[in-house]
Amino acid sequence: MALVDIETMLQMRQLMEATGALIAVYDQDDRLRYANGAFRAAWFVGEDEHPIWADLMRRNFHTARGTVIKTSDFETWLHSTQSRRGKAGFRAFETDLHDGRWLWMTETMQPNGWMLCVASDITSIRSDERTLRQDRDTAIKASLTDELTGVTSRRFVMGKLEELVRGDGAKVRAVGCLAVLDIDNFKYINDRFGHSVGDAVLKDFAITLQRLTRKTDIFGRVGGEEFVLILPNTAMDEAEAILQRMLQAIRHSRPLPEQVSFRYTFSAGLACALRGDDPHELYRRADLALYAAKMRGRDQIGIELPPPLRAMQDR
Ligand code: GH3
Ligand code: MG
Ligand code: MG
Repeated sequence: MALVDIETMLQMRQLMEATGALIAVYDQDDRLRYANGAFRAAWFVGEDEHPIWADLMRRNFHTARGTVIKTSDFETWLHSTQSRRGKAGFRAFETDLHDGRWLWMTETMQPNGWMLCVASDITSIRSDERTLRQDRDTAIKASLTDELTGVTSRRFVMGKLEELVRGDGAKVRAVGCLAVLDIDNFKYINDRFGHSVGDAVLKDFAITLQRLTRKTDIFGRVGGEEFVLILPNTAMDEAEAILQRMLQAIRHSRPLPEQVSFRYTFSAGLACALRGDDPHELYRRADLALYAAKMRGRDQIGIELPPPLRAMQDR
């Protein structure tokens, strides 16, 4: 990377502050680390404030400021939006503000989870086609989201899995981990308590686990009670620790308020993703590990064995 001299740095700072473009930087925890004047004015952020993105959106939603969010249930909107936020290297979309302005937003991600947001005011441009474009964006969003649980859909997850094994920019061969998660004895839950309880369990599962994923992880529903977790740039032991926390969270979860003794569990299969892996083959390996976990009695993790040997063989 080219070195920037101090004068250029200082000028850049002043120019960033002066420009009408709305500029912000978020860190890996989605905390606002920098916002220029235009951004702070549009989203009502104080000069020395560094809110978490979700908190910023929440307080603006409840005071009808900043982004127009078309929902009556903010937390559900947030859960669904967070399952997609920061998962693409670059993303551009249109958004409108409560003050009547129309913005063209871009989000650029670093592999470490930091994000640059740049928005420009396009209020005066082609307002006639706006509804059409917004309808298109809504349709695309729907195809990438699972309707019942609000997390990302099979289509989105499979696309991300292909990206992971392509290993663009990865320095090592092991590009991350793939876990397949499956709720235990779900057929029994449906048969014993009914389909609507089954659906409530699916939602509880998605919401509980989504909270335990990091910004760079991908979590989605790929089938009935089968979910996938993609963990880029993550070693097997780290992935295992994350899954253990997830097992624990679900063990403690009580999804039925009217039946507090009801509990459920899940099992997971974990596989190490190597650059150049065939995504379907990788998925099959995680699925085999899941099968082994089910055979050993459920409520546990199956790990593709032996990952270090595999990685060494393939190097
Ligand atoms: P195991 O512990 O081995 O995973 O057993 P299981 O009963 O969970 O596995 P199985 O695959 O036999 O059962 C899955 C059931 O999930 C079958 C189907 O009726 C139910 N199911 C699939 N999609 C949905 C859904 O969207 N909502 C509800 N309520 N049930 C669903
Ligand atoms: Mg199951
Ligand atoms: Mg299943």
